[in-house]
Amino acid sequence: MKVAIVGAGLTGSLLACFLARRGLSVTLYERRADPRVAEVERGRSINLAISERGLDALRRIGLVDQVMADALPMKGRMIHPIAGELDFQAYSASGDRAINSISRGALNNALLSAATAAPGVTVSFEHRLVELDSAAGQLVFATPAGKVSASADVVLGADGAGSAVREQMLAEGIVAENVEFLDYGYKELSIPAVAGEFALDPGALHIWPRGTSMMIALPNPDRSFTCTLFWPAGSFDALTTADGISAHFRENYPDLLPLAPNLVDDYLNNPVGVLGTVHTLPWQAHGRTALLGDAAHAIVPFYGQGANCAFEDVVELDRCLDDTGGSWSRALPLFEARRRENTEAIAEMALANFVEMRDKVASPVFRLQKQLEHT
Ligand code: FAD
Repeated sequence: MKVAIVGAGLTGSLLACFLARRGLSVTLYERRADPRVAEVERGRSINLAISERGLDALRRIGLVDQVMADALPMKGRMIHPIAGELDFQAYSASGDRAINSISRGALNNALLSAATAAPGVTVSFEHRLVELDSAAGQLVFATPAGKVSASADVVLGADGAGSAVREQMLAEGIVAENVEFLDYGYKELSIPAVAGEFALDPGALHIWPRGTSMMIALPNPDRSFTCTLFWPAGSFDALTTADGISAHFRENYPDLLPLAPNLVDDYLNNPVGVLGTVHTLPWQAHGRTALLGDAAHAIVPFYGQGANCAFEDVVELDRCLDDTGGSWSRALPLFEARRRENTEAIAEMALANFVEMRDKVASPVFRLQKQLEHT
């Protein structure tokens, strides 16, 4: 039984680890060069909040201790108003429950290394899927050496929000998709360590709620913070000069200015990312081809649950294979039936949490509500 996984990101690499334990022959095809040796392309967030849903999957393949060794637990939100005191809001009444800031690159590399070390797993880097016959399990990849064909009994698309597997299934007329773009973009900035120490409390997820927009910051193991601006899409272009950028931040994020010496460079040079929700129906076809993770159901990042949810997909698919005696034709529809409701729920919750983070957390009534919930 040959399984092809397209995409060696977080979902694909984890999936390879799980399938290898079933004694399957797995090939991971990844369009990028090996990120463990190549220059990492700047893309999405540098760090991720990983919570219990994600840790559960890592625990099952024995990777949780390695990944958690460099994790920074964040036990609540630290609200930064324009003026006045910082406000710490614990995530739990006991104050000891936390979400964990983890480096995306380190997590991906740990999963890739675990996948490549697993028996039966091969990784083909610089293989970009360009054609798929989902009924026949035939794949074509663009590689530096030209086009390469491959075949597999099962094809799993773990190639992210802009999935080529989904696009091919769409072209075959076997799936429908609806991508709802948010009218907001995001841009990353950095707060370096000061004399080797964190410039802000590393035990919190920092939020600068500003009504219709916001900035957040998560700590990194090198004692820097990565900030992410979530602003209405067009508004990034309004700031084009060093003076204009400094003036805007002085007015709206005054406590950031002394902490971010590279603010103007970061602002001018870092890209603006798009945000959206992907709805796909169905996620699988022919009992041999399926989508997982962001390829099936990418969500906006405001609950910090996209990767956690993708990891849950992998655990659930593994469970479905157990429950069907390893029958892919029965496991894939079962996987979709069990996961769809949950992924639709988190997609809605993630959108709703944007309003909470950028606006409600700053309100005194919200603070009272949270205190009541904790009593
Ligand atoms: P991806 O990470 O997109 O990986 C897809 C892989 O497929 C990549 O390696 C790509 O190179 C490869 N690929 C793409 N096309 C092809 C092709 N044609 N052929 C071969 N390979 C291909 N989630 C959380 O849980 N917590 C967070 O705090 C969090 N923060 C986020 C912050 C931001 C700003 C964003 C945008 C997202 C955040 N997420 C977070 C969501 C998380 O990043 C995604 O859910 C997660 O990366 C999904 O993993 P994936 O492997 O499915 O897709």
